[in-house]
Amino acid sequence: MNLNDFENIVGTKTSSDKMPILFVGHGNPMYAISENKYKLAWQEIGKKLNAPKAILCISAHWLTRGTTVTMVEKPKTIHDFGGFPKELFEVQYPAPGAVDYAKMAIKAVHSTPVHEDFEWGLDHGAWSVLMNMYPKANVPVFQMSIDYHQSPQYHYNLAKELASLRSKGVLIVASGNVVHNLGKIKWGADEKPFDWAVEFDELVKKSIETNNPTPLIEYQKLGAIATLAHPTNDHYLPLMYTLGLRDKTDNFQFFNDSLDMGSLSMRSVIFS
Ligand code: ZN
Repeated sequence: MNLNDFENIVGTKTSSDKMPILFVGHGNPMYAISENKYKLAWQEIGKKLNAPKAILCISAHWLTRGTTVTMVEKPKTIHDFGGFPKELFEVQYPAPGAVDYAKMAIKAVHSTPVHEDFEWGLDHGAWSVLMNMYPKANVPVFQMSIDYHQSPQYHYNLAKELASLRSKGVLIVASGNVVHNLGKIKWGADEKPFDWAVEFDELVKKSIETNNPTPLIEYQKLGAIATLAHPTNDHYLPLMYTLGLRDKTDNFQFFNDSLDMGSLSMRSVIFS
């Protein structure tokens, strides 16, 4: 995709009364700092969007029982991975917390209690993307956890309760991957994606293009390709938030829409 295409979707920095919503495929944690095409798109979006007052990140890497938001003034940078180079462990993303906005999220959700957390900070699903979008670390950020004991439908519905945050200047960034099978990753030169990865990625694309989220909410009915695309659905559930938040008047634009390492999709989408 030509990065200039972002102009079409996020427009000039003007007057929309609601912030866009983003689903970002974060992929390999090294993409935060290595030379790669995905990072360039994250940087470009950060430059093109109106500055948010705060960011709510819903990351595949914060899974809990119940739903929780971070209430910390200075979120720590969490290096929640192993086996990567030292330079990745040295990354710090010192964005301030967004306690007032976290309180807004708590108030906005009625279907379930939203708990307060004072321990979590920013996991790599959040900071790997945000450090490229907002390298000055000057936009306050809070995270909302994913209740890992709930269905895709549950998360899709919960997302709708967060919609009012968009008109309060909050950029909602869901971070996962629309295809994510680490067990099948190809580390060598042959990165040809698996057929099931292509098929599932295409299904996500079509469902978004036709604004028909039902097959994605009910993805477990798809059988083998669903199980292969998501042996566990931690990286898939963030997409439910973006779909649930989508307003029927939103336009959309895909970016980073390529398969990576055979069994990951970096497909990302912005609704605006
Ligand atoms: Zn991840």
